Amino acid sequence: MGKALIIGAGGVASVVVHKCCQNSEVFEEICIASRTVSKCDALRDKLQGKTKTKITTAQVDADHTDELVALIRRVQPDIVINVALPYQDLTIMDACLETGVDYVDTANYEPLDTAKFEYKWQWAYRERFEKAGITALLGSGFDPGVTGVFSAYAQKHYFDEIHRIDIVDANAGDHGYPFATNFNPEINIREVTANGSYYKDGSFIETPPMSVKRVYDLPEIGPKDIYLLHHEEMESLALNIKGIRQIRFWMTFSENYLNHLKVLENVGMTSIEPIEFEGQQIVPLQFLKAVLPDPASLGPRTKGKTNIGCIFQGIKDGKERTYYVYNVCDHQECYKEVGSQAISYTTGVPAMIGASMILTGKWKKPGVYNIEEFDPDPFMDALNKFGLPWQESFSPALID
Ligand code: NDP
Repeated sequence: MGKALIIGAGGVASVVVHKCCQNSEVFEEICIASRTVSKCDALRDKLQGKTKTKITTAQVDADHTDELVALIRRVQPDIVINVALPYQDLTIMDACLETGVDYVDTANYEPLDTAKFEYKWQWAYRERFEKAGITALLGSGFDPGVTGVFSAYAQKHYFDEIHRIDIVDANAGDHGYPFATNFNPEINIREVTANGSYYKDGSFIETPPMSVKRVYDLPEIGPKDIYLLHHEEMESLALNIKGIRQIRFWMTFSENYLNHLKVLENVGMTSIEPIEFEGQQIVPLQFLKAVLPDPASLGPRTKGKTNIGCIFQGIKDGKERTYYVYNVCDHQECYKEVGSQAISYTTGVPAMIGASMILTGKWKKPGVYNIEEFDPDPFMDALNKFGLPWQESFSPALID
């Protein structure tokens, strides 16, 4: 059916590549392009001969639009799947505009020097994408991503109005290291050291980092400490879900993880302000990333499960109603299947599915869209088919 250019060759990209190769009818050809081409070649070598999908590789610095444009003109893809870092979103969108190619990513743009992620930069491309007749699908990972699809599904099938959404992202995996992050440490630590925030009656209310805590008993995982965080999908869900009054995002952290993080923060290692060290400018957080375990190395060591889902409260036919939809994913099963742990897996599968929705024409619409703006049904079916089956409950425990 089509050809995808996958940008990035890290943890998430590896899963995207595996999943495209499992879906060769849609992804007849892929080109894996990243800054370090040896990582792309390694992925190609792992899969070539085991799939009908034709795989090529290329080197690109995605910070430079001109390099991307040249690559796109050479490869001629039908879609670009951006699984590099959020800093490259705009240069890649610019290149897609210039070449008239559809675009998918999993995380919204964040300027390198401000640690503030918002959709405004990418939403500013709406008119230009519309005029060019191309589609940009923003945030097609798990959260953002599947959480938006779950919300659209709840809205379509179970509610006249959704009033409250609690997104709960739990990772009960154990990698055996004293401290490591499950995906890119720089992105992860920037996210968890920022202020928390939640949506309430038309505005966002900020809370100090990790200051709001609850305990939630998650299916297949058990009771866990969950903490309120800011998370990017709240910004678009607040606009796209009818009648919404409150949205909160919760993530599990162990006491051990938080203690390590506190110490690193107290000594200044999580700062993104450059400092002078032995005649060189270094960013402490980037240095920290270099000494922490590579998230890609956690796969074989991580045991346990993740559970990510959304709890909805609202009304249907004048009556109050609650609904919980979630996916449970087992780290070791993911590793057995694609050689990655569940965090990369739960992001990479939806990225492939989002791209397939556009390639097959199901979600082809000129403009820039968040995932909950499309019909959730084909995406929900694809989750069951490609390794992220979901479960539902109509009487979940609620979070106060
Ligand atoms: P990794 O750090 O493992 O991989 C990032 C990849 O991007 C690396 O291959 C890196 O190349 C490449 N890259 C970085 N800068 C450039 C550049 N300028 N040009 C070309 N390639 C570049 O990250 P992950 O795979 O863990 O994460 C990928 C994305 O997924 C991130 O945007 C992250 O925020 C997002 N994500 C989304 C989630 C969701 O649920 N929505 C959850 C988890 C992650 P090199 O090897 O040379 O450094």
